[in-house]
Amino acid sequence: MYVDLHCHSYYSDGAQTPEYLVSAALERGLTHLALTDHDCLCGVEHLWNATPRAALQADKEGWRQLNLIAGVEISCDWNGLEIHVVGLLKELRTPTLDALLREQQNHRRQRAEAIAGKLDAVGTIGVRDYLAALPATALTRSHIADFLVASGTCKNKQKAFKSYLGRRGKAYVAATWPSLDRAVSAIQSTGGIAVLAHPSRYPLTRSKLSRLISDFHAAGGEAMEVSYANLDPTSKKRLLELANEHALYHSCGSDFHTLESGWTALGKYPRLEPSATKNAIWEHPRWHSIVTSGRTVFAPPIEESEA
Ligand code: AMP
Ligand code: MN
Ligand code: MN
Ligand code: MN
Repeated sequence: MYVDLHCHSYYSDGAQTPEYLVSAALERGLTHLALTDHDCLCGVEHLWNATPRAALQADKEGWRQLNLIAGVEISCDWNGLEIHVVGLLKELRTPTLDALLREQQNHRRQRAEAIAGKLDAVGTIGVRDYLAALPATALTRSHIADFLVASGTCKNKQKAFKSYLGRRGKAYVAATWPSLDRAVSAIQSTGGIAVLAHPSRYPLTRSKLSRLISDFHAAGGEAMEVSYANLDPTSKKRLLELANEHALYHSCGSDFHTLESGWTALGKYPRLEPSATKNAIWEHPRWHSIVTSGRTVFAPPIEESEA
């Protein structure tokens, strides 16, 4: 079992195509990959259309098999704080999830327009054309940060967030996200599993984080990420304790966005120790049905190189 249950394509703020993610996952020997773009399913739908549902499984003995899982990462609100919830979905479309994602994408477009207005006001022109040329369905501040770097306005993305897009930036526009409860319910409506994303990245004290996890569980959340890129061992241990305290399954993923940030790669995160895998998400009673609702791709075995 080698899973990556959190990554992004260029349909949200990732740099790569969904096809790249699939081939990188096969190359790295992953067994399961969930594409979890921010607030949109376009990348998943694209892969689903390109991949026949019933591949010729029996004929592929010895071939590498990669299970693709439909995923999404929903931005939502908990007591005024932005929280991200990953959904590992069974059905791709339900009225509840469709409505939520449509609202999110509209809100993201309106927010981008409001940010563009603020950039106009400080004489930084061109962001609308830049955004219109992107393949992204979910527009994020990350795209606008890319524009600020590409146009020579900022030296790098960190500076773009600090001077323009972050809370104290010149072009900051607050987002209004749906409640945590609504995000979890929309994921549940598909028969999927709601996973609390990167819990150590929120500005919360230990006790507040515990309260978030408790509220997430009460809302119907069933898993949380306990391992991801750049997570130090102390925080990882703490997250495992919290997951066990709140009876949440353990999930993990790279949150891969781009090859440009050298510290992330698909499948790159500290693997779960065997002692922690009894509560791994693949032990969840609905895991199998979620995987079988996905797609499977095959690749020939990697030839041993001749020494
Ligand atoms: P949004 O969801 O539109 O608020 O955009 C947030 C996205 O921007 C996140 O998912 C990250 O990928 C990216 N991001 C947030 N903060 C930073 C930062 N300081 N530097 C670079 N990227 C960031
Ligand atoms: Mn992102
Ligand atoms: Mn996130
Ligand atoms: Mn993410």
